[in-house]
Amino acid sequence: MEKLKRQRVFDLLKGHVDNLINEQVNVKGWVRTKRGNKNVAFIAINDGSIIHNIQVVVDVAAFADDELLKKVTTGSCISVNGKLVESQGAGQHVEILADSIEVYGTADPELYPLQKKGHSLEFLREIAHLRPRTNTFGAVLRIRHALAFAIHQYFNNKSFYYLHTPIITGSDAEGAGAMFRVTTLDLQNIPHKENGTIDFEQDFFGKETNLTVSGQLEGELGALALSNVYTFGPTFRAENSNTTRHLAEFWMIEPEMAFYDITDNQDLAEDFLQYLVKYVLQICIDDLEFLQKMYDKELIERLKFVTENTFERISYTQAIDILVSSGVKFEFPVKWGVDLQSEHERFLVEKHFKKPVILTDYPRDIKAFYMKQNDDGKTVRAMDVLFPKIGEIIGGSQREEDYDKLVSRIREMEIPEKDVWWYLETRKFGTAPHSGFGLGFERLVLFVTGMGNIRDVIPFPRTPLNAEF
Ligand code: ATP
Ligand code: MN
Repeated sequence: MEKLKRQRVFDLLKGHVDNLINEQVNVKGWVRTKRGNKNVAFIAINDGSIIHNIQVVVDVAAFADDELLKKVTTGSCISVNGKLVESQGAGQHVEILADSIEVYGTADPELYPLQKKGHSLEFLREIAHLRPRTNTFGAVLRIRHALAFAIHQYFNNKSFYYLHTPIITGSDAEGAGAMFRVTTLDLQNIPHKENGTIDFEQDFFGKETNLTVSGQLEGELGALALSNVYTFGPTFRAENSNTTRHLAEFWMIEPEMAFYDITDNQDLAEDFLQYLVKYVLQICIDDLEFLQKMYDKELIERLKFVTENTFERISYTQAIDILVSSGVKFEFPVKWGVDLQSEHERFLVEKHFKKPVILTDYPRDIKAFYMKQNDDGKTVRAMDVLFPKIGEIIGGSQREEDYDKLVSRIREMEIPEKDVWWYLETRKFGTAPHSGFGLGFERLVLFVTGMGNIRDVIPFPRTPLNAEF
């Protein structure tokens, strides 16, 4: 077969290809469907560059190699040379009249799991190695990429530096969740000290280590030198919460800014989220339209809703008042001091304010040690951003920059000072007011795609009892 430059399906369907009309082109990709009769065959090819397929038309009589055409079945991978022509049929601009086809890989129709359309998302989770080939996961993965790219672009435009924080950590002070241990000790033969406890001095790092639950503490170290930084990396929580919003391994974006107070922090969070949603509305509209049609009729409306409304900003205490006086019977009853559940968060966003909400000034007893203490002695300068359908999408705060207040909080919460001495030193040497927040990347992708389960917005989800792929 003559070697021609490969054209992406995206470029052929969307690009300015007028100069290629009536020219020989090559496309390569996976066959989605083949139909037709003994005179003509129509092959729909997808190469993952776009949700749509390009149609290849084969004049069966003129096509000498009958055996070859038989191998072209759903799921097979082929390379096609042919003439690009304006399409006769409705629904597409161009198609290819095949001259020659090479089959790279067959897919036995008896065995190929995606032979038929319309599999359930649950079934597709069991074939995570193949599900990227479906329209749904193609769309989700392209949107996921676009969001990751837009995040880096946003921060780069604002002169934030990308800080790489460690994945293996020696401190478990953050307290954001149960951790996964990292060890090279022989589990069949664990070394013990004389007092019977495990001798971690013999472990790889000479101490106990775990996978990180957050890059924030190290992010703060960066901010107190470079002013504005962000992390974007994997985080791990061994929480046994089998919900549609929790993963054991997820990606988090954590900007951390010196000289930002809680209001600056809220402004950034709002601007950031709106930027990201606008970007996807602009770049990924074909994928969004597909997902809207298939899964969520209000998807694009909901995305626009976020970009067009300023976020409501109220305190936790005001939110409790609203929830209590609403008279709604929640599964988890509300009173001042309780942590809000997603049913409460969604009530505020979807029913009460009908716009995204930023809650601030939470009770200090339900928040982390590093949050700046308010003068009332009861609350801390925390902020959570609440979104429709998701509930909490961002959690953040102004950080306690006062050494004495921070130390007394650490003692109160019985956090071992030897684990956080390095963190405390930033308050001893050149401390500064600063703030930051964490955005769960998959929560964002969940929101933007309208998918219902967080397992369906990451290529290979890690959840309790599930690490096959
Ligand atoms: P939640 O109450 O929903 O469990 P959290 O309070 O534990 O969240 P943070 O510790 O504030 O969350 O983490 C920051 C962000 O990371 C959250 O706002 C959320 O977007 C995301 N996140 C937290 N836990 C998970 C998880 N297990 N899987 C996916 N994303 C998560
Ligand atoms: Mn949690």
